[in-house]
Amino acid sequence: MYFRVEADGKQNVAQLRHSRVVVLGAARSGVAAARLLKRHGATVLLSDVQPLDKLPAEVARLSGEGIQVETGGHSPDIFNADLAVLSPGIPRTTPVVRELTRRGIPVIGELEMAGWFCQAPVVAVTGSNGKTTTTALLGALLQKKFATVLVGGNIGTPLSALLLEQPYPEMVVVEVSSFQLESIVHFHPQVALVTNLSPNHLDWYPSFEAYVQAKMRIAKNLDDTNWLVTNAEDALLQEWAAGAAGKKFTFALIGETGANAFWQAHDLVLSVENRRETIPVPRPRLRGPHNRYNMAAAALVAFLLGVNSEHIGYTLEHFPGLPHRLEVVGRLNGITFVNDSKATTVESLRYALLSFEEPIVLIAGGKDKGGDFSRVVPLLRQRVRAVVVLGEARERILQAWHGAAPLVEAPDLEQAVQKAFQLAMPGDVVLMAPGCASFDMFRDYEERGNQFRRLVQKMIGHLKSLGSVGA
Ligand code: ADP
Repeated sequence: MYFRVEADGKQNVAQLRHSRVVVLGAARSGVAAARLLKRHGATVLLSDVQPLDKLPAEVARLSGEGIQVETGGHSPDIFNADLAVLSPGIPRTTPVVRELTRRGIPVIGELEMAGWFCQAPVVAVTGSNGKTTTTALLGALLQKKFATVLVGGNIGTPLSALLLEQPYPEMVVVEVSSFQLESIVHFHPQVALVTNLSPNHLDWYPSFEAYVQAKMRIAKNLDDTNWLVTNAEDALLQEWAAGAAGKKFTFALIGETGANAFWQAHDLVLSVENRRETIPVPRPRLRGPHNRYNMAAAALVAFLLGVNSEHIGYTLEHFPGLPHRLEVVGRLNGITFVNDSKATTVESLRYALLSFEEPIVLIAGGKDKGGDFSRVVPLLRQRVRAVVVLGEARERILQAWHGAAPLVEAPDLEQAVQKAFQLAMPGDVVLMAPGCASFDMFRDYEERGNQFRRLVQKMIGHLKSLGSVGA
């Protein structure tokens, strides 16, 4: 008999004892899902099209744990299942998934399944931008009140893997992607937080509408006791939120929108029903207007969940941020070097430029994503001393920015760093915010950011060893 996916996670877990479950995809989340299912008594087949040597080393150990593993392709055995669990990387349109569905085998995502094993309240974070920063900051805020807080999902460790290690957390924060949300059935967070919506991931979706619909599934199962937290200044998001379930709360940069969290100069105001707190955050380490949204959003959820305002203020002030997102990687001769490799779009580049009072020497360029570079010309004129341009997008950038600031070309990142340093004056910021993807020269944005950090530190070390420079 096939598995009946129920709203109550405990009922689903109980059914596992009599079920044969196929897990498709043996990357980290598939491995963790297979182990969780096995731990709860299911008969598990983990199947992947990749050969064993392309998969995590752990996969080879699973047979010893009583999990059947097949690699290098799916056998017909996968259809001999009561339930199928899909790893986030596998689209639902894949032929095997269609065939599973055609045969009436329920197909769920890893997020849905992990939710069954989680008794703690879940805060789910999605949106177009700022998910990872907001999720990590919220994790740090909630740790001030709850002893065991799991922080994961798209941000790093899949929820299944976290629950294997810590089955009874007090609180869970997960970053969820639109792909994961597509395969939820009953996944039911206590708090759903949507940072914003922008037409960014359109390459995966037939239309912006379809993308929005996928994101909005986060609120699909909310009831009146749950909270839906959204950006008050995002018109499209508000339009959607008006029709969604859950108790609504909003955050904003300024108070005029009537938001529950907003900024008054350096104070964050939190206002929920009859509780109002004004929290000074004079010098947060997270910089820029985009991070003021992220801080307001995370602080509002923490406030709703009972974290006190002293803890909120302290955490907002000291949270260091994440690698590759306006990350300070070195200082030399009064010049600060900042790695914003995650700024892969012109929109992110714009936020990066807005984040500094100091004059900027910008390093930009990479693989062209077709962004409209001319959008940042006014900001370049106001804030940028010079630009070092590199990568495939070079020609388009040189054309779009001609006359806006002095433009210099560099053949690679090492020379770009050196040229930027030569162009900078004491008090300046050398900012790598490419506004482009990284795939022309690097594996991903992380490799690009790591190289930038290493090159900056190498240059600083070298110049210091010559003895002629200060911090
Ligand atoms: P995500 O996980 O959604 O990709 P991150 O927190 O990793 O978001 O931030 C990625 C980039 O998106 C940042 O480098 C910044 O340029 C931009 N960004 C961050 N927060 C916001 C926001 N609230 N609004 C718009 N852009 C943002």
